[in-house]
Amino acid sequence: MRVTIVGAGIMGLSTAWALARGGHSVTVLDQGPVPNPLGTSVDEHRLIRSAYGASRGYTTMVDDAFAAWDRMWADLGRRQYHETGVLAITSEGQDDWVRQSAETLEALGRPVAWLDRDAFAARYPLLTTERMVRAFHLPTGGTLYAGAIVEHLARHLSGRGVTIRPHTPVADVDPDRARVRLADGTVEDADALVVAAGAWIGRLVPSVAGRVTPSRQVVVYLTPPPETQAAWAAMPMILEIDPRAGFYLVPPVPGAGLKIGDHRFSLRGDPDLDREAAADEVEDIVRLGRTRIRDWDRYRTLRAKTCFYTVERTEEFVVERLAARTWALSPCSGHGFKFGAVLGEGAARALVDETWAAAFPDWAAGRA
Ligand SMILES: Cc1cc2nc3c(=O)[nH]c(=O)nc-3n(C[C@H](O)[C@H](O)[C@H](O)COP(=O)(O)OP(=O)(O)OC[C@H]3O[C@@H](n4cnc5c(N)ncnc54)[C@H](O)[C@@H]3O)c2cc1C
Repeated sequence: MRVTIVGAGIMGLSTAWALARGGHSVTVLDQGPVPNPLGTSVDEHRLIRSAYGASRGYTTMVDDAFAAWDRMWADLGRRQYHETGVLAITSEGQDDWVRQSAETLEALGRPVAWLDRDAFAARYPLLTTERMVRAFHLPTGGTLYAGAIVEHLARHLSGRGVTIRPHTPVADVDPDRARVRLADGTVEDADALVVAAGAWIGRLVPSVAGRVTPSRQVVVYLTPPPETQAAWAAMPMILEIDPRAGFYLVPPVPGAGLKIGDHRFSLRGDPDLDREAAADEVEDIVRLGRTRIRDWDRYRTLRAKTCFYTVERTEEFVVERLAARTWALSPCSGHGFKFGAVLGEGAARALVDETWAAAFPDWAAGRA
């Protein structure tokens, strides 16, 4: 098949990777440069972890995700992942997410290691303990070098005969004909079409626009005090996912810095505008860090970054078949990168396997 893919983020490129492996002829169009620094996939890192609240579907999909990354590393010739492990924390006034994650993992035969306050204080002296109620540690999980993966994958695909066309905005799509009309008016046909346009997808696919909301998110990079660097290098990622405080922390890993953010959704903003983090937005993130990191005044805010993603009401991935050979992929709500390789394989298979095509949207939504 000749396949057109709109969007050269992790979803579009992973789909191109899987299709190229299957011998198809693939063209990827992106409105910006590749990698596009305004795309959701282009940041120093994204996390992969098996703690997934009550979602048994996404918890088990993480195993599939790791296996798919391994297939991609084999092709790329390099593993772009650093294992940190996971520290999931419940603070005062919170409960469900950490407890549910532990219950789901335990039901799958993977008991977690609980830490009481004393054990927590002894093991993690960089963190405060006042607000902490309970926590568990998982040895698996870590950071995917997101921006580097996108860059490396694009280069690898070009070498394998995939056509990647940066600065080629698509004005609209015709799913029934697997056709795109470019912003310069050119019309291009293919046998199949995959729309993976990240936070912009609603502009091309009205049915997806009705299901997801673009959301502007701010992350803050920190410089830790020099004497803490060795201790930070041994730290796990920290997840405190709760409707009242969606704090997460990515420890410094080789080549990438200490990052904190808020997993709660802003549900506002335009991905073409609003790219500067405002002082009050940075302060909101800093406030989360100050109450969790000991000796906070010794940390420096290095930079803040804004990023957009799409949010679905229940945080499930939106994968829609728009026509016989046209699919829309909007796997986000702030947790899609880890599934990039496995969703790309899923999308490629859905173009050639009717049984899988019928199951793919539910599987991607974590309902399998
Ligand atoms: C702050 C933040 C933290 C996150 N943390 C995690 C995490 O820890 N773990 C995790 O798994 N996920 C995380 N995510 C989510 C993850 O980054 C996304 O799910 C994933 O990157 C989405 O990839 P994508 O390819 O769909 O979108 P994108 O990377 O945005 O790619 C879409 C591409 O489509 C192009 N495009 C759009 N419209 C057009 C058009 N009309 N014509 C041509 N090209 C077009 C864009 O230029 C862009 O390059 C996080 C996201 C953010 C913002």
